[in-house]
Amino acid sequence: MTEAKQHRPALRPCGAATRHGLPCKREALPDSERCDVHDPRFVEKHRAASRAGGWGRAGGGGPLDLAGLDLNTLEGLRGLLARALEKLAQLRFNEKTASAIGGLAQQLRAILQDADLERRLAALEKAADVPTDTPRREPWE
Ligand SMILES: [Zn+2]
Repeated sequence: MTEAKQHRPALRPCGAATRHGLPCKREALPDSERCDVHDPRFVEKHRAASRAGGWGRAGGGGPLDLAGLDLNTLEGLRGLLARALEKLAQLRFNEKTASAIGGLAQQLRAILQDADLERRLAALEKAADVPTDTPRREPWE
């Protein structure tokens, strides 16, 4: 039975307020009043680490540049997704970014397919001299 051991309270609890406002139950470091999360020597290190790798990192964060994108067109949407993917690719690679990249890539692929079909259809219509503003007639009509 290891249950009793797991529930054993820390001999010297850290006691610092956690994010939820409750006292921290982690054990204080041997040479400190606080645990390895709340000791002032480590707090700055944690902040620097999350600045370096988080979503707010310079370059990766910030608004997306929409200049020159007409979001009412497939081409504009394609550009938007491509720029979003580029931004994501600058972030630290982890499960979160990987799944975001996967989702965007899938949508980008769908748009590229649609745009390709549209282009080919337009080329066919041009070659067949079909007016695009009137309903197409089947040849046997
Ligand atoms: Zn603590």
